[in-house]
Amino acid sequence: EETRQKYVKGKKLGEGTYAIVYLGHLKDDPQSLVAIKKIKVNTEYREGLAMDAVRELKHLQELSHPNIIALHSVFSSRNQNLNLVLEYLPQGDLEMLIRDVEGIRYGAAEVKTWMGMLGRAVWFCHENFVLHRDIKPNNLLIAADGEIKLADFGLARSFSDPYRGMTSQVITRWYRPPELLFGARFYSGTVDVWSMGMVFAELILRRPFAMGTTDINQLELICQNIGTPNEENWPGVTKLEGYVKFDNLNSQPVKGRDFYLGTFGLIGSVGVDLLMAMLTLDPRKRSTARQVLDHKWWATDPRPTAKRDLPRKG
Ligand code: ADP
Repeated sequence: EETRQKYVKGKKLGEGTYAIVYLGHLKDDPQSLVAIKKIKVNTEYREGLAMDAVRELKHLQELSHPNIIALHSVFSSRNQNLNLVLEYLPQGDLEMLIRDVEGIRYGAAEVKTWMGMLGRAVWFCHENFVLHRDIKPNNLLIAADGEIKLADFGLARSFSDPYRGMTSQVITRWYRPPELLFGARFYSGTVDVWSMGMVFAELILRRPFAMGTTDINQLELICQNIGTPNEENWPGVTKLEGYVKFDNLNSQPVKGRDFYLGTFGLIGSVGVDLLMAMLTLDPRKRSTARQVLDHKWWATDPRPTAKRDLPRKG
């Protein structure tokens, strides 16, 4: 109640699948712009849940890092709607830059800056025992100074989407790791590292690496483009609840360095080594966020572009 009265809600900025976003400011300071994100909560699940979510989101407020969107406040309004008061970032997201192939030019140095920012954000989340679970270019917002900010923590989403099966078509699956596609119930921070690897690949290709139309099709594309999971490359995979055996066209050996150099040559052989470490099928062999930051690619030429020199829209 107190927090709600601190902010004034202004014009609507946009609308996503799960939320309506408004411009806002502190009541006693019209210059202090914020984005107020009102989460659409399924009516059947409103009772009580909003308070739980508020409690859980409170600890995200303490996650303060230059590459994570600031969550200033969380409150539930009159009708139990969940409202997040977020840092205002009007410069769009990384997806807009990737897609604008005609207008926006960039190379390995820019990719290195963006991936470094993302890597530090993910490492910081994991250090604080938070998994993001929904890393994708559209959740990487751009600040006025060029800094990339990881946004849209999956929590609000799982809250507004208790029927996972029902709405799984609308959730982007292109960045989802194979263990989640196979229905693993125990997983670690390396789920986010896979998604980071898919963003890395997409920054280079300027299109998503594997655009599955269903969860099974996503797994098929992973088999074809990365390699088919089996007991040899991923001990235990066949025991996962949703494990599916792939054969014929979809039974492919894990792609080697030559394939990666041919497709992702822009980042050089050291960069390709990092990408392969992130897109490792077995989540236990995949790099951790810490190992990503310790990789030698960051210190290899070219040096990352200074953030003020990064390309931007408009
Ligand atoms: P989506 O991720 O599907 O775009 P969101 O609900 O996250 O949906 O956001 C809807 C729209 O609101 C975005 O496309 C963007 O235009 C705007 N928006 C979201 N967050 C912010 C923010 N922190 N600052 C400024 N605009 C935002």
